[in-house]
Amino acid sequence: MSHTDPSTKSSPAHRYLDDNTRRTKVVATIGPASDSLETLAAMQEAGMDVARLPLAHGSIDEAVARLRRVRQAAPEVGVLVDLPGPKIRTTPFPEGGVLLVAGADVVLSPQGLAARSDASTIGVSVPELVETLHEGDRVALGDGGVALLVESREGYSVRCRVVAGGKVQGRPGVTAPASRLALKTPTPEDLHRLEVLLEEGIESVAVSFVRTAADLHEVKAMAGRGVLVCAKMETPEALDDMDNILQVADTVMVARGDLGVRVALEEVPHIQKRLIRSCIAWGRPVITATQMLESMVSSPVPTRAEVTDVANAVFDGTSAVMLSAESAVGVDPVNAVATMARIARRADLDFDSSHWGRNLPAQNFAAETAFGARITAAVGAAAWRASVEERAAVIVACTNTGATARAIARYRPAAPIVAATPYEYTARQLTTSWGVDTVLVPEAKSTDEAVNHGVEAVRAAGYAKAGDVVVVLAGSLHDPEPVTDTLRLVRVY
Ligand code: PGA
Ligand code: MN
Repeated sequence: MSHTDPSTKSSPAHRYLDDNTRRTKVVATIGPASDSLETLAAMQEAGMDVARLPLAHGSIDEAVARLRRVRQAAPEVGVLVDLPGPKIRTTPFPEGGVLLVAGADVVLSPQGLAARSDASTIGVSVPELVETLHEGDRVALGDGGVALLVESREGYSVRCRVVAGGKVQGRPGVTAPASRLALKTPTPEDLHRLEVLLEEGIESVAVSFVRTAADLHEVKAMAGRGVLVCAKMETPEALDDMDNILQVADTVMVARGDLGVRVALEEVPHIQKRLIRSCIAWGRPVITATQMLESMVSSPVPTRAEVTDVANAVFDGTSAVMLSAESAVGVDPVNAVATMARIARRADLDFDSSHWGRNLPAQNFAAETAFGARITAAVGAAAWRASVEERAAVIVACTNTGATARAIARYRPAAPIVAATPYEYTARQLTTSWGVDTVLVPEAKSTDEAVNHGVEAVRAAGYAKAGDVVVVLAGSLHDPEPVTDTLRLVRVY
């Protein structure tokens, strides 16, 4: 991709952005193609902000080893451990895969009857699913390209016709109509793995196939208050319970892969926009995921459509864009990260940075929202306005938990946001948040001290120079709930 002159030199964002700054964060999924120390370090260098560790494949020991390698090679990167939930898969297809031809007959059997899959018999990892299937049900394999129609029952198995053909390999997911089998998430296996990884000190965990807010409670209880819990929005039920889920979740993923097998594909872009809008209103960091640069699994350059998809997710207001197979099993994970970072950086220049700040205060929280959240929202709105009117060089969020930084990131301001925190753990959690850079500062005993540390740190790091105005936000140090209740405008001398 050659460098082009941005046409947006006069946009408010452009005043603050240069070739090295990026507001939209990059999440990269780690897999066999990307888990060497050299590759992980190069991915951090290329712009990876968050490493996602899926627990769907391999043993827990392998996951722990992988986590340790990420910590060693890319210590500043945030880690998102991803619990797979009740994902139903086929038994393994032969090496190299199998072509299922439209019109052909295949039998779906419980895995006990078909430990391996081939072109005539496909084993399913959860026997109960096969039990619940009825004539006329549509069953999708993988990301939905291949579809089967159930025609008749044959004992414990069902006979199907291939209605959409294609190649299947490995152990693709099996998706039946939502009404058939509702498996609980998180699974006991998820919780066991989480317990082991919590010992390693992880900062965030994603829950797959969330259906209601209640599905997050068990993970929240086990993980404790300090760990961010990400709700993967990938079922129609979750969309129906969206507001309750956003209230409980700390972060959100627009999981377009599984979503696209469960709702009509043409709904996906609209769901993405609706989810991002709601997440911004709630102040929840939101990751847009799946197939963003899919062709880079095998190609050194993405398609025009993929580049445009990433840029449009930025314009929608997403906090982060995610690489899946591109970085986990693709030919060149470092190139995929660099490409995504480049597209995001360019799109940031044309991001409408006045939109959210202008419109969010008006659609503020409902009256029943917790008092602390309302104070935080009011102070955040005032900070956004002050940053625009005073042309602030930077907005500093003095924060222990990260909550104050997330509260101002919600307004998507043009000025850079710098979180000043004493804790590396908090810094790694903020790698998912839109526009937030972090500087480490000493612990403070008072709000005055926190503000002084923050201003000094952004001056030292070059975000502000003598004569600049800095907008400073701080939380209450004594409140049991994180509340951002202090706004100061400080002139730098
Ligand atoms: P997955 O989640 O990659 O773990 O399936 C993301 C998605 O479904 O889009
Ligand atoms: Mn998924």
